[in-house]
Amino acid sequence: MTAKKSTPYTRFKTILEEVLTKIEVSPAERKMLNEPQAIHREEITIKKDDGKKATFPAFRVQFNNARGPYKGGIRYHQDADLDEVKALAALMAIKTAVVDIPFGGGKGGVQCNPKDLSKRELQEVSRAYVRAFAKHLGPDIDCPAPDVNTTPDIMAWMRDEYEKITNTYAPAMITGKPLAYGGSLGRDTATARGGFFILQELVERDALDPSELRVVIQGFGNAGGHMAELLHGAGYTIVAVSDSHGGIYNAEGLDPVRIEKYKRKNGTVAGEYCTGSVCDLERMKMDGVKRITNEELLELPCDILIPAALDNVITADNAKNIRAKLILELANGPTTPEADAILAKKKVKVIPDVLANAGGVTVSYFEWVQGRSGEQWTAERIDHDLKRVMLAAFRDVRRTAYREKMTYREAAFAVGLRRIVAAMRARGWVN
Ligand code: GLU
Repeated sequence: MTAKKSTPYTRFKTILEEVLTKIEVSPAERKMLNEPQAIHREEITIKKDDGKKATFPAFRVQFNNARGPYKGGIRYHQDADLDEVKALAALMAIKTAVVDIPFGGGKGGVQCNPKDLSKRELQEVSRAYVRAFAKHLGPDIDCPAPDVNTTPDIMAWMRDEYEKITNTYAPAMITGKPLAYGGSLGRDTATARGGFFILQELVERDALDPSELRVVIQGFGNAGGHMAELLHGAGYTIVAVSDSHGGIYNAEGLDPVRIEKYKRKNGTVAGEYCTGSVCDLERMKMDGVKRITNEELLELPCDILIPAALDNVITADNAKNIRAKLILELANGPTTPEADAILAKKKVKVIPDVLANAGGVTVSYFEWVQGRSGEQWTAERIDHDLKRVMLAAFRDVRRTAYREKMTYREAAFAVGLRRIVAAMRARGWVN
């Protein structure tokens, strides 16, 4: 018998099914939690700068809205397909329930490589996306946000297109917007900041000294880049970082502020030392820096490993070689169920995506509230409320893990699923 191929959605279902056996759900509820409520797919066509046409598959998956409007980002990636977007939409439904904000879960994707598109083409893709799905979107229906490779600029173009089509003023139809056009303070750093609050709580509880903790971060985008800066500022030692081109390692510690500067200038985290594959070896030696692949990075000696890029990177093949004691998932879906089992046996603590990276959608919720009320909250208020929400969610997950002898991932799913089921029952959807 050949093993069934694992995909993002089969991996989600593996955890879902396992946790559903541990909580009280009816067959009808179980069925509803297994599939999205709606799947929308379109081909979007734009005119390229050279005058030719280009067409990209585009998706919006609405997983569950028992607790409120569908909520979740839109990613632009050459590998984004329906299966992946379905899994990400499902994770959003669990995530919004874990942090107990009044949203359901959805996700969008455009199968394109944004690095091959000019700024004008990117704007065309973004407006075409909204035209394709406008009737399914709206502040009370489904509210998108940034995700992999999508930015505040893209959110602004999408809001503008939506308001034109619907002839409305609708700042709350999308979050992660620029400050100049309905955005919220603190949204850009929110994903990292939310994870940081949880990490600090763990470190303080165990009376650890941050300066003695070595951190490895995979991914230097919005989540990973900001996390590196926050941790560096709090005294942790960042020993390795990477981006899609690979990474750099220094056992003595790296300076993320410098890395960010060179990344902006030369396009990669290794930009201070390398141009493409050509590196200044002399300079690297002097600074004690080594170039590493993304695979090598995961197996480095460290205390805390933070996957902050794509899914499916910690697998049955490398889980046994992971040397971190704690994994904080800022990426969505970085660890497979097989890897989870190996890590649990090795007593590696995993703070799962649906909790660890929920800071992003939490501040999206604050942005949505501000968009609907016309208020503008201060940075202090956002930070204070984000901390409160994250620590309350962590407490609920921790308590469930302890009482029901679950891993943090199982416990987070149990907390989230119970809240979704309670809403479905309250609405009289299933019995
Ligand atoms: N894309 C982010 C996530 O995966 C944020 C979603 C949102 O703010 O709606 O959680």
